[in-house]
Amino acid sequence: MRGAVVAGWGNSMSLFEDATIAEAEGAQKIWARAAGPLTLAAIVFASCLVGIYSRPIGFLAMVWPANALMLGLLVRMPSAATVPGWCAAAAAYVAADLLAGSDLFKALLLNGANLVGVAAGYVILRQIASTRAGLRETRDLARVILAAIVASAGAGAVGAIANPLLFGGTALGGLTFWFATELANYAAFLPVVLAAPRLSQMPRDWHEFRSSLASRNVMPEAALGLSCLIAIAVGGQGALALPVPALLWCAVSYPVFKTALLTLLYGCWALIVAASIFLPAAGALDENALISIRLGAAFLAIAPVVLSSIMQSRESTLAQLHHLAAYDQLTGAESRHAFFERARRLLESRPRSVAVLMIDVDHFKRVNDTHGHSAGDEVLIAIAKRMRSRLRPFDLFGRMGGEEFAAIIPDCPRQDAIRVAQRIRRAIVEEPVGFSDGKTIPITASIGMIFKDRPGTDVIDRLLAEADAALYQAKLHGRDRVVVSSN
Ligand code: GH3
Ligand code: MG
Ligand code: MG
Repeated sequence: MRGAVVAGWGNSMSLFEDATIAEAEGAQKIWARAAGPLTLAAIVFASCLVGIYSRPIGFLAMVWPANALMLGLLVRMPSAATVPGWCAAAAAYVAADLLAGSDLFKALLLNGANLVGVAAGYVILRQIASTRAGLRETRDLARVILAAIVASAGAGAVGAIANPLLFGGTALGGLTFWFATELANYAAFLPVVLAAPRLSQMPRDWHEFRSSLASRNVMPEAALGLSCLIAIAVGGQGALALPVPALLWCAVSYPVFKTALLTLLYGCWALIVAASIFLPAAGALDENALISIRLGAAFLAIAPVVLSSIMQSRESTLAQLHHLAAYDQLTGAESRHAFFERARRLLESRPRSVAVLMIDVDHFKRVNDTHGHSAGDEVLIAIAKRMRSRLRPFDLFGRMGGEEFAAIIPDCPRQDAIRVAQRIRRAIVEEPVGFSDGKTIPITASIGMIFKDRPGTDVIDRLLAEADAALYQAKLHGRDRVVVSSN
């Protein structure tokens, strides 16, 4: 009876728990759907306020990050690129304007232009999947630049309507002024959002990000700061171009994200400081000069990001090539060329002693003939792994070709080196190589070894030849053994 009551309690508890879990899961699902749109709306709202308070009387904002941030976020955060996301962002735009005291008509028209621009840019940019953002791929840059131009043209088209209605200007004036303003902002802010580290890839991206920001090479950024100061002292519209060499220096020295951040700072400097210093007195702001400065800033901002992206993709291609040249593609052991290079450097560093091992798989041709070439490949992969694991990390291990490997063990007493050689041999013979279909292939290997105290000026080729002669002896005396050269 007691048991039944307890069981009853147990059931109702589990029902209660199930209901709680279901509620929690429901809440989680709602949050998962709402997180993207809400984040987008919050960022749009905050950046609109930044833009509104940088807006000089009667002119469109000098710095207007909202549109570029929204476009970038739609690409980076697909969960925000939904109908609720667009609605939340639109509400955030209008709310920020109303909060700042605009009337509803003006707020709707101005933000209509913003959204038309973002939508036009998104049509171009949405093919860049969120995983490919990061501007690591140079081929994506052309699309990003095109998206910035199309988005600016979209906003410019609404500007052509809004300018006569709101500011009493001409349609052409509205088009060019809005286009230039938008292009400067997209060029400055969009690369930062696209190149920013991915939240989903933390902490790897975060580590990369921190090490890129805390670069020890501070000269390029110092030169950038200095040239902005010199530009202010020099004055005139041409001074905008003075920081360009320093920006390009940054681009070839830093990763894309840091370059984009520095370019953004330069862009803000150009839009705010330079515009107010180099233009005639604020009351007589010349619209054409402003358009010219903004277009100039936009095009200047594109160059360093393009250069940095090209440098980054070149560096990763070089790293791939280096890896291809340095490691054997089948077994992951060092390639013959890299092994000789490292061995030469090792001998130049004058080690106390070296043991040089030549290792050759016994009757490997039979393995191929009996089990097929691809099974032979699998065997090579498996035994290379075993051999490497019996060596210390700083010992050298390379594939000389075919089923022949070599190892160099520096600064290790003779008896210990012999023990290592035996350990390698045993690692191969003690466990047959297994395959996924249950098949196993027993393998043995012969090892020739030469030990040298104070190898001095010995050349690696001669040491390997002596180890090879010992290997020949091992084969001659029945294989599956270690022979140490008496030389
Ligand atoms: P021994 O005990 O005298 O060394 O005999 P062995 O059969 O191992 O030596 P041999 O030099 O006659 O044959 C080596 C074979 O290794 C011939 C070649 O087809 C095979 N081989 C070389 N490279 C590869 C490879 O990358 N994959 C595979 N599966 N086989 C390879
Ligand atoms: Mg062999
Ligand atoms: Mg051989």
